[in-house]
Amino acid sequence: MSTLPDGYYAVPDPDDPDTMTRWRVDSGGMHPHPAKTWYGPARPLRKDAPGKPGTDEYIAWMRDYFDEWGSWARRVKEAIEANPLIARFHFTESTGHCHNCGRVLTDGTSRTLGIGPDCRERIPHDLFSAYLAEVKRAREVR
Ligand SMILES: [Zn+2]
Repeated sequence: MSTLPDGYYAVPDPDDPDTMTRWRVDSGGMHPHPAKTWYGPARPLRKDAPGKPGTDEYIAWMRDYFDEWGSWARRVKEAIEANPLIARFHFTESTGHCHNCGRVLTDGTSRTLGIGPDCRERIPHDLFSAYLAEVKRAREVR
């Protein structure tokens, strides 16, 4: 399972770099954001099925699709894990929302930091200092 901290992340689609994919991580689970958005290989259509549901052909066809989607999702996760902070910034930059709670950011400071005043307040002071140092470093490597 994911070791990513809860929050919001965005990375380009590994197969289509012009498309940004956005994710909400919650207790180790990765969910497309907004909910019900579809990213990755297109869902198979029932009319393209090689047989009726429950038949061996149908099950193999679905399994192939889930294998394809699973390998795509692994590449997305690896891209986020390669630099989670940058993925958090991508989320804020592409949505204008807090990468911690997903709410709209309304002031310049919050947009620069990627995190709103309520979420900042809840972070212990020493952790927040470490976060700011990390933000500065991440900006430099970009
Ligand atoms: Zn927030």
